[in-house]
Amino acid sequence: MYNERLVEAQIEKVEKSLKETFYQKGDKLKVGVDLGTAYIGIVVLNEQDEPVASELQEAHVLKDGIIVDYVGALKIVKNLKEKLETRLGVRLLRASIAMPPGTESSIKTHCYVVEGAEMEVSQVLDEPTAANNVLHITDGAVVDIGGGTTGLSIFKDDKVVYVADEPTGGTHLTLVLAGSHHLPVEEAEVFKKDPAHQREVLGHVKAVIEKMATIVKNHIEGYQIDAIYLCGGTCCLQGMEQIFEKTVGVKTIKPANPLLITPTGIAMSC
Ligand code: ATP
Repeated sequence: MYNERLVEAQIEKVEKSLKETFYQKGDKLKVGVDLGTAYIGIVVLNEQDEPVASELQEAHVLKDGIIVDYVGALKIVKNLKEKLETRLGVRLLRASIAMPPGTESSIKTHCYVVEGAEMEVSQVLDEPTAANNVLHITDGAVVDIGGGTTGLSIFKDDKVVYVADEPTGGTHLTLVLAGSHHLPVEEAEVFKKDPAHQREVLGHVKAVIEKMATIVKNHIEGYQIDAIYLCGGTCCLQGMEQIFEKTVGVKTIKPANPLLITPTGIAMSC
């Protein structure tokens, strides 16, 4: 059963931990490293899975879930880890990671990045399982729309019965905006994320979102899906859920700050 109140409370605390530190001396810490196409993030939880601290940085060192700039990825993870260690006054010694569906052949490279930052890899999850550590759904589809990829997983009786990964994500929305507004890609990215522009942005990228939703609709055909759960940074866009619900024809739920669902779930497994 999806408990909206619990998921929202968890994400609200992680959001706060991006600015504040809730560490109490003696807490055993759980660390999740999320290596994404658009962002690299580290979330730190205590043993009760309560957020302690987190750091997030824009990054362009992965493509389609695969590390294409190892040195760049290592530098960012080291930097985020050092920032957290300074804030917390402790050393972070182990961390969990997660892989998008279909990229399992690159697990070693992901592990090398974390080990290069002097953390032992305690667990390697798949991203849908990580997201579901927070969402706790037993039946339904989790759709994780990141920067470069859209991951989809179908849960039945608490088990993943189908996964897919499509090369579409927020980067494509940014490219459409760059074209329509005659902006450099970097400026279009900032424009897209500005809360003041969300309504205008949605108008310009609606067709792309409908296309994403149609891809999801095709994947879930043949499965009995009562609800779709959106996560991933691209779903921060206000109104995404309505377009998905209308296009797919299935009730669509978007938790508070979908960007933080997967990184939090990764840390929960550490
Ligand atoms: P991938 O899953 O493809 O490896 P990732 O894990 O880095 O990528 P996320 O961190 O889930 O992906 O999401 C990154 C995407 O979310 C980027 O395209 C970014 O532009 C988009 N994004 C972040 N915040 C917002 C926002 N407020 N409005 C719209 N898009 C947003």
